[in-house]
Formats: sequence, structure tokens, C-alpha cells
Amino acid sequence: MEVWEKIKKELSAVYSDTNNDPWLTIINPVSFIDNHMVLSVPDDFSLEWIRNHYQSDIIKIAKSSFGDTVEVELIIDHREDIYTDAVPSGEKKAFPVLETNSIGLLKNYIFDNYIVGESNKFASAASLAVAQNPGKAYNPLFIYGGVGLGKTHILNAIGNYIEETKGGINIIYLTAETFVNDLVNHLRDKKMDQFREVYRNCDVLLIDDIQFISNKERSQEEMFHTFNTLYQENKQIVFTSDRLPKEIPNIEERLKSRFEMGLIADIQVPDIETKVAIIKKKAETDNIEIDDEIAFYLAYNTQSNIRELEGYLTRLSAYTVLTKIKLNINVAKEVLSSLIRKKDKWLTIEDIQRAVAAHFKIKVSDLLSDKRMKYISYPRQIAMFLSRTLTNASFPEIGVQFGNKDHSTVIHSVNKISDMIKNDSSVKEVVEKIKKGMG
Ligand code: ADP
Ligand code: MG
Repeated sequence: MEVWEKIKKELSAVYSDTNNDPWLTIINPVSFIDNHMVLSVPDDFSLEWIRNHYQSDIIKIAKSSFGDTVEVELIIDHREDIYTDAVPSGEKKAFPVLETNSIGLLKNYIFDNYIVGESNKFASAASLAVAQNPGKAYNPLFIYGGVGLGKTHILNAIGNYIEETKGGINIIYLTAETFVNDLVNHLRDKKMDQFREVYRNCDVLLIDDIQFISNKERSQEEMFHTFNTLYQENKQIVFTSDRLPKEIPNIEERLKSRFEMGLIADIQVPDIETKVAIIKKKAETDNIEIDDEIAFYLAYNTQSNIRELEGYLTRLSAYTVLTKIKLNINVAKEVLSSLIRKKDKWLTIEDIQRAVAAHFKIKVSDLLSDKRMKYISYPRQIAMFLSRTLTNASFPEIGVQFGNKDHSTVIHSVNKISDMIKNDSSVKEVVEKIKKGMG
């Protein structure tokens, strides 16, 4: 759109070097009709960024060029290909894509980058056993757990592992939703023989989000017969679900009992260290530097969902790639503030001091004092750690609020507690309990 090119040129008067400004190159001109200009960007992060930093200038220039009635609207269009030309190659990784292989398995979802902790060690051990001995270890394997806790990842890991170690074996991986749609299409085209031929002749059947089959009688019937055929021939079947078989509503008894026949393994919400380990692994893969302080900050500020954690990382990564600003905890807090503040009310250092003092049954004034007895210095260190993790305060600010301590004392305390959390689960529990108590 020439109009947009013209505006971009004008913008270079405002921002030097506009042609190299990655933010402007990710804007895609969509239309300019009746004085209404529509521009698209690839995701909500870019949308927010462009709104906050460029929109007013874009509007100003549009108005001066085309008159005061011009309106500019920014929308999100997720289609990658409309931006690929524009986005400089080095910046592309700011918009991650999930690559699949020829049978539809997500390539990056493998055991090697699946972090195992208390919350998922049973499910992950069972999955590995199944991947190593398909049809022999546990059949079916039924994995269940909440949203964003790694079910799809581990299901793909099973598939990828089998694919790699037993090349040529016939693996089918799909969501229950795809199964249902496929069934509908084959029914419509009167090609059910073909449908059965495909599903009943595979060696490994991996079905994601089986709860989707609830209420769909015809699909349940077909699934039941598929299951029986495969099971009798010792073919491996793995299901994932967001709930237990008995909690899936409107599902035939006979199918439910099939789901329960083998091994049922759950994935729970990860604890803090597991979250930190996941963050570090992802950061390593994405090539961004995340120090312990940022990792803990992210871990403490997510409720349960790992996808949410990844969202934070993607945003940090996009920010550093596009602005070339070096990441530190303050930058991270700033970049994520709109996401994180929305969910948690902002705690103050006083809130934290009160909660910590109450937990250890000491006085707030003890926390602010110079007393060195362990039963006071330890809670003080925890309170400093929490202040650093849960508020935006800098080290010197925290020092001031703890009875004018030097910032090096605060840094020492924060590091000490971070280390203790990693090595001593009782410390971790105390910190989590206090944090929970503050809600
Ligand atoms: P679910 O299918 O349970 O909703 P996903 O498998 O899609 O969740 O996981 C959400 C994201 O979190 C994925 O990108 C996945 O790679 C990541 N993830 C989840 N659990 C782990 C883990 N234990 N280690 C590493 N990454 C994980
Ligand atoms: Mg999933």
C-alpha cells in the first residue's frame, strides 16, 4: 500500500533510521478505504508496543497527509507469511512457530527438553516406559492434568521417541477433535471403510484431549471399536485428557472402562524449582539470558500454567531482540508489568513485612532492627527476598524500608534465600506458604 510507504517515510523524520526499525517493519498495511486505514501486526505484544510507542505519530502523519478525518486502526493478524518479507531474518525468532514433522508430531516436544519434577515424575516415567516398549509396558496409558501443564508435550515426546527408535512404525497422532472431524467427513462421503482401515491398522495411536469426545455418540462408538482392535493386537494407545475418565461427562460406560484399563497418570502443578528449571531450559533454547532473579520472579508470578510462563519468556525475548536492550530484573518487571499486575494486586513491602512477621511470630519492628539473632535475621532475609521478588522495589529502596540497611545487605539476603530455596525444601515451603497467605 503506497499510502503506508508514504507514512513510513515521514516517520523516518521522527525516528531516525526507520528502515531498520524492526517495529515498523512488522506493520502490515491491510486497507485504506473511506479514510479508514487498517494496519495489522502479528501478535498482541506488538499491538501493545506499537500503540504505546508509534500510534500517535502514525495518526499525526496520516492526518497531515490525508486530512483530519483519517482514522487509523491496528488489528492483529496471526498469519506469519504476511510478515515474513518484512521481518528481518534475525528478528524472526521473536515470533515462535511450532514445527511439525511428516506425521504431524510437534518436533520440539521431546523428552530431552521435558523437565521432570515432583509434579510430573510419574507421568513422565510412565510415558518413557511406553515409548521404549510400545504395546508392552502400560496399555492404554491415560495421562490427565490441567491446562498448560505439559500433556501435549509429553504425548508428542512419546511419538517422537518411537519414531526415532523404531523407524517405519505406523504412528497416528491427533487430537480427539480431529478424530471427530475426520469421522464426520468420512461419514458424509460414505467412506467409512477407508476411515477404519487407517485407524485400525496403526501401531501406535496417540490421542490428545480425549475429553472432547464427550457427548459425541458416533465418535465414541467408533473409538470403542478402534480401541478394541488395536488393543487385541497389542498396539500401543495413549490418551491425554484434562480430567479423569470418570469425570468426563456424557461418555459411554464401556469406553470409560477401556480408558481405565491400563495405567492412569496425572500431571500436577509444578513447584517453584520445577518452574525455574523449565524457564531456564526454555531460555537456553530461545537463546535469551535469564538470570536466577528473573527466573524466580517469573516462577513466583505464574499461578499454574506453563504456557503462561512461556508467554512471559516470549515477550521478554521479543523485547530484547527488537530493542537490543539488555535484560535485567527491572527491565523484565517493566516489560511484563501489564501482564503480571493485572492478575495480582501489587503487594507493598509493608504487606510482606507484616506477613513474614506474623508467620514467624515476631514483631515487624524486629525485622527493621539490627538484631542478629537467627530467629530474627532469617525471617528478615526471607522478607527481603519476597520484597525483591514480589514488588518493583530496587535493592536500595528495600534497604531503606528495612530500617535503613545498606543495599549490599539486601543483595546478600536475596542471594542467600535463592540458594537456600534450591537446596532446602523446607525453606521453599515457608516462602511459598507466606506468599500464598498474602494471596
Ligand atoms: P497441555 O497440553 O497440558 O495444555 P502443553 O503440553 O501444551 O500443555 O504445555 C504447554 C507448554 O508448556 C508447552 O510449550 C510445553 O512445551 C511447556 N511445558 C509443559 N510442561 C513442561 C515441562 N515439564 N518441561 C518443559 N516444558 C514444559
Ligand atoms: Mg494440550
